[in-house]
Amino acid sequence: MQSFCGKNHEKPYRFEEERIETDGSIMVRFKNKNIEKLAAPPKKIFNFLSASWPAPVPEADMIEIPDLQNHQNTCSQCMGAKKIKIFKCPECKGKGTVDFQTEYNSYSQRCKLCSGKTIIFSEDIKKLKIIDNPEEIDCPDCQGKGSCPATYFVEINCFNFDIEYLEKLKNLPGIKVAVVSIPSQVPTSGLFFKFEGGEGLLMPLYG
Ligand SMILES: [Zn+2]
Ligand SMILES: [Zn+2]
Repeated sequence: MQSFCGKNHEKPYRFEEERIETDGSIMVRFKNKNIEKLAAPPKKIFNFLSASWPAPVPEADMIEIPDLQNHQNTCSQCMGAKKIKIFKCPECKGKGTVDFQTEYNSYSQRCKLCSGKTIIFSEDIKKLKIIDNPEEIDCPDCQGKGSCPATYFVEINCFNFDIEYLEKLKNLPGIKVAVVSIPSQVPTSGLFFKFEGGEGLLMPLYG
């Protein structure tokens, strides 16, 4: 169980008859033989366990952790729409470079507005207030699929969870998960998990 808490490991605590391990992103609680010597949790963790711990989730609502190797997340560029609107860069007129002329010579430089990409995506264009006819193309990030292979996070019920934690959770016997709301907490949702001998909560990623 030590491996869960490598990032910011705090000492284990004792709460009721359980051992509590947490690193701030994940909290695991389970029955353990040698808990007598463990300290009581600090007030913040004590309050969280007493007041914010999710109610038991019915077995039927718990799911398996998705296949992490082949998991697809919604594409963050097109948000799953598969198509994206682009505009020819108004600064370089789609050339990718801008010409400069001085008294002595002329030279060209990579266009600063589009970074030489020659196009601008529709989100950026709103800020620039450019009136032009957009062209609709297959989203270049996901090649028009609307989803991308999961690399560092996995989307479960529209919440993103760190793939590193999910990989470790997958090794626990009988592991099942469910996205639940957490009473009076920010973030307000988390991934509740249950395994043979214990349960826990993984916080989602934001950003
Ligand atoms: Zn896309
Ligand atoms: Zn440009």
